Amino acid sequence: MTDCLFCKMVSGEITPDTVYENDDVLAFRDINPQAPTHILVIPKHHIATINDLSDEVGTLIGKMFLAVKDIAEKEGLSERGYRTVMNCNADAGQTVFHIHLHLMGGRAMSWPPG
Ligand code: AMP
Ligand code: ZN
Repeated sequence: MTDCLFCKMVSGEITPDTVYENDDVLAFRDINPQAPTHILVIPKHHIATINDLSDEVGTLIGKMFLAVKDIAEKEGLSERGYRTVMNCNADAGQTVFHIHLHLMGGRAMSWPPG
Protein backbone atom coordinates (compact mmCIF):
# COMPACT_ATOMS: atom_id res chain seq x y z
CA MET A 1 0.00 0.00 0.00
CA THR A 2 1.93 3.02 -1.26
CA ASP A 3 -0.17 5.59 0.60
CA CYS A 4 -0.11 3.79 3.96
CA LEU A 5 2.02 5.45 6.66
CA PHE A 6 2.89 2.20 8.40
CA CYS A 7 3.71 0.41 5.12
CA LYS A 8 6.18 3.24 4.50
CA MET A 9 7.82 2.38 7.81
CA VAL A 10 8.01 -1.27 6.81
CA SER A 11 9.58 -0.37 3.43
CA GLY A 12 12.04 2.07 5.01
CA GLU A 13 10.65 5.16 3.24
CA ILE A 14 9.95 6.59 6.72
CA THR A 15 12.22 5.72 9.64
CA PRO A 16 10.39 5.16 12.92
CA ASP A 17 11.97 4.87 16.35
CA THR A 18 12.16 1.09 16.07
CA VAL A 19 12.33 -1.03 19.23
CA TYR A 20 11.75 -4.51 17.76
CA GLU A 21 11.68 -6.23 14.39
CA ASN A 22 11.43 -9.74 13.01
CA ASP A 23 10.30 -11.26 9.68
CA ASP A 24 6.62 -10.60 10.38
CA VAL A 25 6.39 -7.72 12.81
CA LEU A 26 7.78 -4.21 13.34
CA ALA A 27 7.45 -2.20 16.56
CA PHE A 28 8.28 1.46 17.15
CA ARG A 29 7.58 4.25 19.64
CA ASP A 30 4.34 6.18 19.17
CA ILE A 31 4.99 9.76 18.03
CA ASN A 32 2.33 11.06 20.46
CA PRO A 33 2.79 8.87 23.55
CA GLN A 34 -0.16 8.48 25.93
CA ALA A 35 1.91 6.74 28.62
CA PRO A 36 5.60 6.75 29.67
CA THR A 37 6.03 3.75 27.37
CA HIS A 38 3.82 3.75 24.25
CA ILE A 39 4.85 1.40 21.47
CA LEU A 40 2.99 0.37 18.32
CA VAL A 41 3.34 -3.21 17.09
CA ILE A 42 2.38 -3.72 13.43
CA PRO A 43 2.40 -6.64 11.02
CA LYS A 44 4.67 -6.08 8.01
CA HIS A 45 1.78 -7.25 5.82
CA HIS A 46 -0.83 -4.54 5.17
CA ILE A 47 -4.19 -5.20 6.82
CA ALA A 48 -6.43 -2.13 7.16
CA THR A 49 -8.61 -3.09 10.13
CA ILE A 50 -9.58 -6.05 12.28
CA ASN A 51 -12.57 -6.42 9.93
CA ASP A 52 -10.13 -7.38 7.15
CA LEU A 53 -8.60 -10.32 9.00
CA SER A 54 -8.84 -13.74 7.35
CA ASP A 55 -7.63 -17.23 8.18
CA GLU A 56 -4.52 -16.69 6.01
CA VAL A 57 -3.32 -13.70 8.01
CA GLY A 58 -4.89 -14.56 11.38
CA THR A 59 -1.67 -16.08 12.73
CA LEU A 60 -0.07 -12.63 12.48
CA ILE A 61 -2.14 -11.54 15.47
CA GLY A 62 -0.47 -14.18 17.62
CA LYS A 63 2.92 -13.06 16.34
CA MET A 64 2.09 -9.47 17.29
CA PHE A 65 1.29 -10.56 20.85
CA LEU A 66 4.48 -12.62 21.06
CA ALA A 67 6.33 -9.42 20.11
CA VAL A 68 4.41 -7.53 22.82
CA LYS A 69 5.55 -10.09 25.37
CA ASP A 70 9.21 -9.69 24.38
CA ILE A 71 9.04 -5.89 24.20
CA ALA A 72 7.29 -5.63 27.58
CA GLU A 73 10.06 -7.73 29.09
CA LYS A 74 12.76 -5.53 27.51
CA GLU A 75 11.01 -2.35 28.63
CA GLY A 76 10.67 -3.65 32.19
CA LEU A 77 6.87 -3.69 32.12
CA SER A 78 6.08 -7.39 32.48
CA GLU A 79 5.70 -7.59 36.26
CA ARG A 80 4.02 -4.26 36.82
CA GLY A 81 1.69 -4.64 33.87
CA TYR A 82 0.71 -2.81 30.72
CA ARG A 83 -2.22 -2.38 28.39
CA THR A 84 -2.69 -3.49 24.80
CA VAL A 85 -5.31 -1.87 22.57
CA MET A 86 -6.26 -2.38 18.94
CA ASN A 87 -8.78 0.19 17.72
CA CYS A 88 -11.16 -0.64 14.88
CA ASN A 89 -12.78 2.09 12.78
CA ALA A 90 -14.36 5.37 13.78
CA ASP A 91 -16.09 4.66 17.10
CA ALA A 92 -12.86 3.28 18.54
CA GLY A 93 -10.84 6.19 17.17
CA GLN A 94 -8.70 4.33 14.63
CA THR A 95 -6.70 6.91 12.66
CA VAL A 96 -4.12 4.78 10.84
CA PHE A 97 -5.66 2.06 8.71
CA HIS A 98 -2.93 -0.57 9.02
CA ILE A 99 -3.67 -2.68 12.09
CA HIS A 100 -1.51 -2.00 15.11
CA LEU A 101 -1.40 -2.97 18.74
CA HIS A 102 -0.81 -0.15 21.18
CA LEU A 103 1.44 -1.31 24.02
CA MET A 104 1.20 1.20 26.86
CA GLY A 105 2.79 1.06 30.27
CA GLY A 106 4.71 2.88 32.96
CA ARG A 107 1.64 4.28 34.71
CA ALA A 108 -1.57 2.93 36.21
CA MET A 109 -4.43 2.76 33.67
CA SER A 110 -8.05 3.48 34.41
CA TRP A 111 -10.97 1.29 33.35
CA PRO A 112 -13.21 1.59 31.42
CA PRO A 113 -11.26 3.52 28.77
CA GLY A 114 -12.93 6.66 27.44
P1 AMP B 1 -4.97 4.66 16.19
O1 AMP B 1 -5.61 5.97 16.57
O2 AMP B 1 -5.35 3.50 17.05
O3 AMP B 1 -5.16 4.38 14.71
O4 AMP B 1 -3.41 4.86 16.46
C1 AMP B 1 -2.56 5.47 15.54
C2 AMP B 1 -1.34 5.87 16.33
O5 AMP B 1 -0.30 6.15 15.41
C3 AMP B 1 -1.53 7.13 17.20
O6 AMP B 1 -1.29 6.80 18.56
C4 AMP B 1 -0.50 8.10 16.63
O7 AMP B 1 0.11 8.89 17.63
C5 AMP B 1 0.49 7.15 15.97
N1 AMP B 1 1.28 7.73 14.91
C6 AMP B 1 0.84 8.50 13.89
N2 AMP B 1 1.86 8.86 13.09
C7 AMP B 1 2.99 8.28 13.64
C8 AMP B 1 4.37 8.29 13.28
N3 AMP B 1 4.81 8.93 12.20
N4 AMP B 1 5.23 7.61 14.07
C9 AMP B 1 4.80 6.96 15.17
N5 AMP B 1 3.51 6.91 15.55
C10 AMP B 1 2.61 7.57 14.80
ZN1 ZN C 1 -0.08 -0.52 5.46
